Amino acid sequence: MKRDIILGIEGTAHTIGIGIVNGDGEVLANLRRMIKPEKGGIHPREAANHHAEKAPGMLKEAIAVAGVRPEDITLVAFSQGPGLGPCLRTAATAARAASISLGVPLMGVNHCIAHLEIGRLVTDAEDPVLLYASGGNTQIIAFNEGRYRVFGETLDIGIGNMLDKFGREAGLPFPAGPVLEKLSLKSSEDLIELPYSVKGMDVAFSGLLTAALNAYKRKKRALEDVAYSIQETAFAMLTEVTERAMAHLGIEEVLLGGGVARNSRLREMVRTMAEERGARFFAPPGDLCVDNGVMIAWTGWLMYSSGTRMKIEDTAINQRFRTDAVDVTWRD
Ligand code: AMP
Ligand code: MG
Repeated sequence: MKRDIILGIEGTAHTIGIGIVNGDGEVLANLRRMIKPEKGGIHPREAANHHAEKAPGMLKEAIAVAGVRPEDITLVAFSQGPGLGPCLRTAATAARAASISLGVPLMGVNHCIAHLEIGRLVTDAEDPVLLYASGGNTQIIAFNEGRYRVFGETLDIGIGNMLDKFGREAGLPFPAGPVLEKLSLKSSEDLIELPYSVKGMDVAFSGLLTAALNAYKRKKRALEDVAYSIQETAFAMLTEVTERAMAHLGIEEVLLGGGVARNSRLREMVRTMAEERGARFFAPPGDLCVDNGVMIAWTGWLMYSSGTRMKIEDTAINQRFRTDAVDVTWRD
């Protein structure tokens, strides 16, 4: 019997990712390239051009790294949304071309669900609350009555965007999240008061961003202390709403996902919260936390192997693809 080999193409934002897994969930290749703008934020068109330029070479490389032949691939999956239109279209076009030339089915995958499913694959998490903290997205997601549902989310910008915007204004390189993490370790731990905005199960970061910039630029507070205070405040907000979702749903597992989940302080805060509740804490390794093609390939396979089929007209991209719009056929 032919073994299943799944190709996954991720391209919702700044990263183009090509991943290859097999039907047993073994990761065979995980290639990523991220556009790093010289200055300013990410321009969707420029990011899409970057992805279009990199994808063909990465595809060949991924197949070589995986040690498979193109004709071994049995399914092509791609990130259908949510994300930036031009980037999504580029990834979808690459996926359609691959699916047609290989003569194999095509599967559009919800990016947020993929972050959760890769965590379930590579950690012992079975039914976790996911804290998905990335550049563009910040959501608290859990499985409930046949769907992945969003129990809380940012009302304005994603936490990573907040960190990156602060960094840009403060003259730090992109992406600023890891730079701020390093700076925070050198802080005197003198906490600057910043807006803590939790509204029910939701959070908001733009007030915090403005106040943090004000503290740095006008009040001349040390960058290390501002970095420390941003992290302490923003991560406490995320930890609070995650805990509330766990308590509300009676779920005893928490999983981290998204690029910001690489942050040691965020991991420590969420882990401590989990331990205090007697719950279990999980986080995938860093290269599967950030946007990657492996999570798309694996989720595509979960969908396909549980009976989902897509016609070409079902594969239109969806910039606002909602997490709860997907019928989760692979869990009961
Ligand atoms: P993603 O959108 O999931 O690919 O993640 C990218 C985001 O993660 C960017 O906004 C980065 O600034 C952020 N990020 C990456 N590493 C870290 C870190 N160690 N601490 C905080 N943010 C991070
Ligand atoms: Mg992501």
